[in-house]
Amino acid sequence: MNIYSFVPRPRQHRYIHSSFSFNYFKPCSTCLQDTGEVVLKMEEMESIRLKDYLGMNQQDGADHMKVSQPTFHRILIEARKKIGCALVCGKAIRIHGGTYEMGMNPLRKFQCSDCQHIWEVMHGTGRPRDCPMCKSMNLHRVKDENEYTRTGYGRHGKHQQSI
Ligand SMILES: [Zn+2]
Repeated sequence: MNIYSFVPRPRQHRYIHSSFSFNYFKPCSTCLQDTGEVVLKMEEMESIRLKDYLGMNQQDGADHMKVSQPTFHRILIEARKKIGCALVCGKAIRIHGGTYEMGMNPLRKFQCSDCQHIWEVMHGTGRPRDCPMCKSMNLHRVKDENEYTRTGYGRHGKHQQSI
């Protein structure tokens, strides 16, 4: 017997590029006590965002999350099953946990302090010199709501939760 068959493979991290503003949904009902809830993992929510909300194909979604296409497919199917269950059975949805790592947001936002124009630049292109609208050099970085700053572990921080 091969002893290695007993060693669980380390769980591969999935990259997530968005934090979610909402983490709890429940049916609008006066008697909700015992309907229960389903727990949607962060990577499952991300697969829904990429595939169903942004309309990416599975390979692009997999590339974004740095997983194989079959893994992405599996995560997506599980997410849809849970959401379907919540809608059909009137359960609440909690978005929580999973095995993931926050990826880098590929865009940075800047705002012109003079004309208030807001625009986005790709990471790695350096700080813009002036406002594309009025050429003012009086600009500042705008934190995007998708950047994971509110929870305090930083955009590049590793984060693992198990449920
Ligand atoms: Zn300007």
